[in-house]
Amino acid sequence: MFSYWEKKNFFRYDLIVIGSGFTGLSTAVHYKRKHPKASVLILEKGVLPTGASTKNAGFACFGSLTEILDDFWKMTPEEVFSLVERRYKGLCQIRENFGDARLQYKANHGFELLEAENVAAADQMDEVNKMLKKIFKKDVFSIVKKPGKFGFSDRVKLVVENQFEGELDPGAYLGALWEKASELGVKILTGVSVVEVQKDDGLIIAENMAKDRIFEFSGDKVAICTNAFSKKLWPESDVEPGRGLVLLSKPIAGKIPWKGSFHLDKGYVYFRKIDGRLLLGGARNKDFEKEKTVEFETNPKIKSYLQQLAREVILPNQEIEWEMEWTGIMAFGSKKSPLIQPIGEKTAVAVRLGGMGVALGWQVGKELSQLLSKM
Ligand SMILES: Cc1cc2nc3c(=O)[nH]c(=O)nc-3n(C[C@H](O)[C@H](O)[C@H](O)COP(=O)(O)OP(=O)(O)OC[C@H]3O[C@@H](n4cnc5c(N)ncnc54)[C@H](O)[C@@H]3O)c2cc1C
Repeated sequence: MFSYWEKKNFFRYDLIVIGSGFTGLSTAVHYKRKHPKASVLILEKGVLPTGASTKNAGFACFGSLTEILDDFWKMTPEEVFSLVERRYKGLCQIRENFGDARLQYKANHGFELLEAENVAAADQMDEVNKMLKKIFKKDVFSIVKKPGKFGFSDRVKLVVENQFEGELDPGAYLGALWEKASELGVKILTGVSVVEVQKDDGLIIAENMAKDRIFEFSGDKVAICTNAFSKKLWPESDVEPGRGLVLLSKPIAGKIPWKGSFHLDKGYVYFRKIDGRLLLGGARNKDFEKEKTVEFETNPKIKSYLQQLAREVILPNQEIEWEMEWTGIMAFGSKKSPLIQPIGEKTAVAVRLGGMGVALGWQVGKELSQLLSKM
């Protein structure tokens, strides 16, 4: 039972955003900047944002060499170029807007480990550099002259360096977005799960975490930013979940002889050093079908593959004890680009950010906000 005051003040908004990951928060911030007088509410089902934005590995990346080469099999050269450009511009924009200190951004470069089966990728490096010159003005990729300095096992035949890649703390980035949204007067309600959106009239049915109370919200406009969880609210969408696992070691007793963000296996595996620990994740390609899920569980096959990789290839001479593990859910589809489109008279979506949402979320939120402004 709600009071007159609650009904009058808490359930009607100019814009309601569903989902408070990078995309939802960015959408709200851009919209509020453009329409300072608009009332904007974000509804989030978790106590914290609970999808990918607080679970990721914090790579400020736009594609490793083998990942970009792999994209050429599925996309036109123009599409590959614009995907990289969009990601890189996205990274530049969040650094400009929030500052490196706030994001804990480190320009430590990216590195890709090439094993025997993909070492031929290096032959196409010059061509990729040439294609990307319009964006970066310089060569992006180069071969590391003395890869032995990293201490990887001899399974690693070549290491390719990317001078434009960096690392950040995704929790710090999300915190900065949250603060910005609050400063602008965006209201955020957590623990509220949307169960239905009536897309032409802006009516939203939601429930609390205990699932024993129903709430009805009404928005002049509704933005769905639920990424991997979008099928529930938009069943016909071309969005498929893809779970990602991250492992974090205890502080490593010996010295870790490298820094930066590292990729393996066309970007499916990634690792970096955090506070003297090894953060290692990915490898959903080792059990693709099982990882197409929104359940936050650990796949033991993938976990043991990653642990073996750490022992045998990444830190072969060190004792590794594991302390933490977590999973997050990404969204994929038949194409790599995000879906940003109207899906009803009052409703639009921005979903399917793949494995690059750190770079894309801010810009995707801007594009959704522009679309909503025209609706
Ligand atoms: C393990 C892992 C590692 C990754 N590493 C990187 C990386 O290093 N670099 C990189 O660029 N990207 C990385 N990504 C991808 C990146 O994290 C995502 O692309 C990005 O976070 C997507 O942001 P989003 O806001 O669109 O979605 P999400 O962060 O998933 O946000 C969606 C939000 O909607 C909420 N929600 C869902 N359904 C409802 C509902 N019915 N009602 C209310 N709320 C709802 C969810 O709780 C969630 O908070 C990684 C992802 C994972 C899982």
